[in-house]
Amino acid sequence: MGRMAAAPHPETWLKVTPHGLCCAPGGFFIDPTRAVDRAFVTHAHSDHARPGHRAVAASPATLALMRARMGEGAFQESQPLAWGERVRMGEVTVWLEPAGHVLGSAQVAMEYRGSRAVVSGDYKRHPDPTCDPFVPVPCDVFVTEATFALPVFRHPEPDEEIARLLASVRLFPERTHVVGCYSLGKTQRLIALLRRAGWDGPIWLHGALAPMCAVYEAQGVALGDLRPATVAAKAALAGAIVLAPPGAIADRWARRLADPVVGLASGWMRVRQRAKSRGVELPLVISDHADWDELNATLDEVGAPEVWVTHGREEALIHAAAQRGIHGRALRLVGYGDEDDGEAEAG
Ligand SMILES: [Zn+2]
Ligand SMILES: [Zn+2]
Repeated sequence: MGRMAAAPHPETWLKVTPHGLCCAPGGFFIDPTRAVDRAFVTHAHSDHARPGHRAVAASPATLALMRARMGEGAFQESQPLAWGERVRMGEVTVWLEPAGHVLGSAQVAMEYRGSRAVVSGDYKRHPDPTCDPFVPVPCDVFVTEATFALPVFRHPEPDEEIARLLASVRLFPERTHVVGCYSLGKTQRLIALLRRAGWDGPIWLHGALAPMCAVYEAQGVALGDLRPATVAAKAALAGAIVLAPPGAIADRWARRLADPVVGLASGWMRVRQRAKSRGVELPLVISDHADWDELNATLDEVGAPEVWVTHGREEALIHAAAQRGIHGRALRLVGYGDEDDGEAEAG
């Protein structure tokens, strides 16, 4: 029996280009930042899912979210893929596994001549009632995000943060609690966590948050009694919980509310200064990204001898990986980072 020919190193077939990561022998890009002929899209956040590609392969939920956000311009052709379903792209076998980040979020796994790379997109390991949990896939190269890749970032249990919110609601029954959260993922997770904590009354939404909630419900994620938080409802909003985009909580829109307690749900709320500078009275450390411990545990679990690190604090994670014999490389991908409203909000 002859020895198997050495598998090609992923750096020979998965490359950084001005359009993003390109799998040349498969003829496709992953989360391309410019319009391309053929894209695999990990999830529907605006920095990963751009409009104008000809053909997009993604999970069914990601395709539905992209359509809701971009309408006709989302793509010309779509290929929904179930978890684990294999497709052949040239000589490359490609499949999706859940990433646990937001509804429909996927990792893209690729195998070419016995060599396997996995692009995780954005991910987290904390359980989230609104999406399927991350599945570790053993591979030769693991491409990871590094949004919270510093030892100071350790996310608390989300249920404890929700308990602090509900305690404040009980303490100030006349005031409106307005919590900033980005529209895709964080909003629906907060709602689901509130429901699980026993809050079965109405949750009031800023108009910008409603469309994504509708897609979640259509995809089978029940969110309960949601109502529009309009000016007319001001009297009804004493003692209520209102969710709004982070950009709206400190502006005129929130000033119309009854003596609001201003909260913000983000991994960045771990940094006191960020909360203070934004006038946030009730910072909630709830993140849809892996924290320092989750990132490191994930590297160990996938067992890749090499990890490529993108959008975040590459150096610290590469250093920590090196101490465990994992070779790290900073992928200088541009155009990723933050969902719709700036870096302080995306986490
Ligand atoms: Zn994301
Ligand atoms: Zn991202």
